[in-house]
Amino acid sequence: MNPDEIFKNVVSHAKEYGFVFPSSEIYDGLGAVYDYGPYGSELKNNLRRYWWIAMTQLNENIVGIDAAIFMHPTTWKASGHVDAFSDPLIDNKDSKKRYRADVLLEDHLAKIQGKIDKEVEKAAKRFGESFDPEMYASTNPRVLGYREEIQKVEDRMKAALESGNLEDLQQLIVDCEIVCPVSGSRNWTEVRQFNLMFGTEMGATADGATTVYLRPETAQGIFVNFLNVQKTARMKIPFGIAQTGKAFRNEIVARQFIFRMREFEQMEMQFFVRPGTEMEWYQHWKEARMKWHLALGLGADKYKFHDHLKLAHYANAAADIEFKFPFGFKELEGIHSRTDFDLGKHEEFSGKKLRYFDPELNESYIPYVVETSIGLDRLFLAVLSTAYQVETLADGSTREVLKFPAPIAPVKVAVLPLVNKDGLPEKAREIFELLRFDVNAQIDSKESIGKRYRRQDAIGTPLCVTVDHDSLVDGMVTVRDRDTMEQERIPISELRGRVLAKVEMRNLFR
Ligand code: ATP
Repeated sequence: MNPDEIFKNVVSHAKEYGFVFPSSEIYDGLGAVYDYGPYGSELKNNLRRYWWIAMTQLNENIVGIDAAIFMHPTTWKASGHVDAFSDPLIDNKDSKKRYRADVLLEDHLAKIQGKIDKEVEKAAKRFGESFDPEMYASTNPRVLGYREEIQKVEDRMKAALESGNLEDLQQLIVDCEIVCPVSGSRNWTEVRQFNLMFGTEMGATADGATTVYLRPETAQGIFVNFLNVQKTARMKIPFGIAQTGKAFRNEIVARQFIFRMREFEQMEMQFFVRPGTEMEWYQHWKEARMKWHLALGLGADKYKFHDHLKLAHYANAAADIEFKFPFGFKELEGIHSRTDFDLGKHEEFSGKKLRYFDPELNESYIPYVVETSIGLDRLFLAVLSTAYQVETLADGSTREVLKFPAPIAPVKVAVLPLVNKDGLPEKAREIFELLRFDVNAQIDSKESIGKRYRRQDAIGTPLCVTVDHDSLVDGMVTVRDRDTMEQERIPISELRGRVLAKVEMRNLFR
């Protein structure tokens, strides 16, 4: 199967087996919004818990909070989101398609680069082995012309974006003679800034209502609570505040399933440090976060760092942890050194001091911040798309199996009476009662045992326990392993310990 097919299968498997549904599907869904089903919500809870334990429980200097989604509107003025959290948009009047103006220009530049590559390729064929591509590109008049063109467009684009001059941006699209990929026409609207925040009204009366925003990131709920948390939990710098929760962005181009959603969940941690030590902590969190990912066991080849060369105005270092999704390496988590930008801005806009008195230095300062920010839905997609496998068995048949790391599997163990009579269902229920207080267990007596195994494979249950006629006599059951499909007979008295040893979250932290 090619990656496209695998991805399609993952999406349909997710729906068929109750992991992810399109939102309000009976009304044909809502763009880039999804609901998590019975197994999806379990998997998501487990991933959130894996993150929460690693960040809070296992770090003595990190505590958690749960801030509201609505925040005072000035929060988003101070953070820069009202003025700058936007994309420049342009519409083609004939196709009615909407594009990001900067992306249209970047695609145009890529085309010119393509022409350069072709020239060089042609010349390489002409000149044979002695050919020096760099020398050719820096002397050939045609290539030089293309290079100059690229440079000119880049300079104009950068200037227009930095100064926010949207007319220039539109003129540049006209001057480059860019056509709409759908209609082929150059009939463009003007360029507008499109803010990605969702706004709504709070309050009952028309004149008393204020515009509030659905938070586009969870981080600001942490910044505004910095002093509350520091004082009440008696935290000393360096320390961190962690939070998981929904964030909302009106993404223009939303596709690739739950990779880019308009409503999604973030897991963020802001780590407050003494100014001047932020680079050490930035390195520390880069390594710690990568270690956390690797401990899930999806494979080291699936991850890579992408260091940002172009930094946001508030950052002095930034990197992404990219994951190899079926559609290629893409951002899964960001680690950012945000300086004192956020706390400084909130001080300025609120007029309240947001400083820390450092008893060792005997001085007060605005702490610097290193942030780790991961999308729970992207993590879900990373795990699901890696776990999904189609295997051909010895007898030539195939099975679809989700090879989740056992501690995060939605259902940990299924108890299956071999037949639905002769006292076996009753014995199975006894065993189910023994397990259900510790782990999410299922009991299932419908259909043949083979079909029940397949169903548990398809939802990723690591262990199946089969109760047969002998179990009533010898007090033993058969335990089947999802991945190896090997079966082992063990005493019921050892079962609970066996299951726990396999699925405990602590296995991931060893
Ligand atoms: P991208 O470049 O993909 O738009 P970003 O750099 O804007 O992402 P951040 O603002 O750094 O993302 O947000 C932190 C994390 O939140 C990302 O690493 C990603 O996992 C997740 N995230 C961001 N936007 C979305 C979205 N629209 N849908 C799902 N997850 C998202």
